[in-house]
Amino acid sequence: MINDLNNPSHDFFPSINGDNQKLLTLINKTSEILCTWFSDTQNLSPLPSNKEFRTSNPENIGCDINVLLEEIQSLVYSSFNPSHPGSLAHLDPPPLTISIIGDLIASALNNNLLAEELSPSLSILEKDVCQWFCNRIGFRDNSGGIAASGGTLNNLNALVTAKYKAGFTFDNDIALIISEDAHVSFKKCATILGLRNNNLYFIETDNNGCMNIAVFNSLLEDLLKSGKKILAVVATLGTTIRGALDPINEIGNKCKEENIWFHIDASIGGVFLITNNKIQDIQRLNIDKANSITINPQKLLGISKTSSLLLVSDFDSLKDTFRTGLPYIDSSEDVINRGELGVQGSRPAEIIKLWLGLRFLGVEGIERILDTSVIKKNLFIKKLDKNKFEILSGPLHIISFIPRDMSNFESNNWTYKAKEYLIARKFMISRPIYKGKYFLRIVFGNFNTSEYHISELTNLLNNFVA
Ligand SMILES: *Cc1c(COP(=O)(O)O)cnc(C)c1O
Repeated sequence: MINDLNNPSHDFFPSINGDNQKLLTLINKTSEILCTWFSDTQNLSPLPSNKEFRTSNPENIGCDINVLLEEIQSLVYSSFNPSHPGSLAHLDPPPLTISIIGDLIASALNNNLLAEELSPSLSILEKDVCQWFCNRIGFRDNSGGIAASGGTLNNLNALVTAKYKAGFTFDNDIALIISEDAHVSFKKCATILGLRNNNLYFIETDNNGCMNIAVFNSLLEDLLKSGKKILAVVATLGTTIRGALDPINEIGNKCKEENIWFHIDASIGGVFLITNNKIQDIQRLNIDKANSITINPQKLLGISKTSSLLLVSDFDSLKDTFRTGLPYIDSSEDVINRGELGVQGSRPAEIIKLWLGLRFLGVEGIERILDTSVIKKNLFIKKLDKNKFEILSGPLHIISFIPRDMSNFESNNWTYKAKEYLIARKFMISRPIYKGKYFLRIVFGNFNTSEYHISELTNLLNNFVA
C-alpha cells in the first residue's frame, strides 16, 4: 500500500516515466494473435466450428498476462469472422484496416466526447467530420451532427428532437408515420417516447419495397383533416431486407409543405450519398428536404462498430433539445459540449476510426467499395437461375430470394435447410421473414468475396433447389 503511494511501479496503467516496454509487448502480442487470425481466415469458416468457448471469472488474485493472452486467443478463434469471404449474412462487413487502429487510439486517449474540456481536439474532429458529411449530402450552412453508438440511438435522437421542436415533449397522442418495411428500431423508439401502437402508422410498401406514395398522401390528408398531431414522417434509404429506397423527394416535399419533421433512416444507404455514385435513383434525391438523417458507416464501409451519425439541417435543434448545462464542467459560453447534443452522455471517440477511414479511403476508395458491392450483387443475380428463384432487390447491395411458387409455410423449412447446407460449405447467409414468408438474404458488403465465391454460391443454390 505504502509502496503504491510512493512508488507506483506497477503494470496496471501505462507507465508515465518508464519506457512502457510491457505495454508495447502486450500490444504486439495481441496484434500477432489478431493478424494470425486474419491470415488463417481461408482455413476457418464465417462461424467458429468450436462452440466450446467458456468465460472465466475474475479471481481473487489478478491473472497473469500470459494466461490472458491465451484466453484472448480462444476468444478470437471462437468469434464470428466478418472477413471470411463467405460472410454475407448481415450488414457487418470486415473491419477496415485503419479503423482497427482508430479504436486502439480512442482507448489509449480515453478522452470523453461529453465535454470539450475532456476532448479538446476530438470535439473539433467530430464536429468537422459531421460538417463534411453535411456538405456532401447537400445540407446547408446551419446544419450539423452528432455521432452516437448505432443507428437505433440516432433514430431516437432524431425523434426526440422532432418531438421537442414540435412542442410535443409531454404529449404522447401523436402520430409517427413509417413504412411497413422500416427498421424495427422505430418500434423501440416509439416505446421509449411513450407512443401507443395506434399512433404508429405503417404505410404499405409497393412491389419494389418502397413506401406507397399514394397511400401515404391519402393517410396524411386524413390525419391532417382530423386534426391529428404528427410527430414525424420517416423514410428509409435502403431497407434492411431488400435495400429499397422510399420516395424521398415526394415525401420530403409534402412534409415541407405541411411543416412536419421529416427523418430519413439512411443507416444503410447513406454512405452512397457522399460519393458521386452511379445509382441514378440516389443521384436524383433532394436530401436537403429532410430535417434529420441517420447514416451508419459501420454497415458498409467497414468502419468498425459502432459508427453512426445523425445529421440535422438545423444544428440548433439538437442544442435546444438536449441542452442540460453541465454544472460540473467548466466551459465558456460559446463552447458546445457535445454531450448536450443527444441522449448519450459520456461517449467514446468513435469519430477517430471514421475520420481515419475516410481519410485513408478518400472519396475514390469509398466509391470503389460501394460500386463493387453493387456489381457483386448484380453478378449474383446474373448467375442465379431466374427460372427457379423469385428475387427481391432494390438498387443497393442487398438481395432476398426464394424458390418460385413456394408457400409461406414451405418457406420456413426450405430456408432453414438451405441455410444449414450453405454454412456447412462456409457460406453464411441470413433468413429474414418478410410479409409472412421466409427468404434467404445476402448482403454483398464483403470486399473479400470474389467472383469465384459468387459462382460457387450460385452453383450451390441453383442445384439445391429441386
Ligand atoms: C441497422 C439499421 C438500423 C439500426 O442501426 P444499429 O446500428 O443496429 O442500431 C436502423 N435502420 C436501418 C435501416 C438499419 O439497417
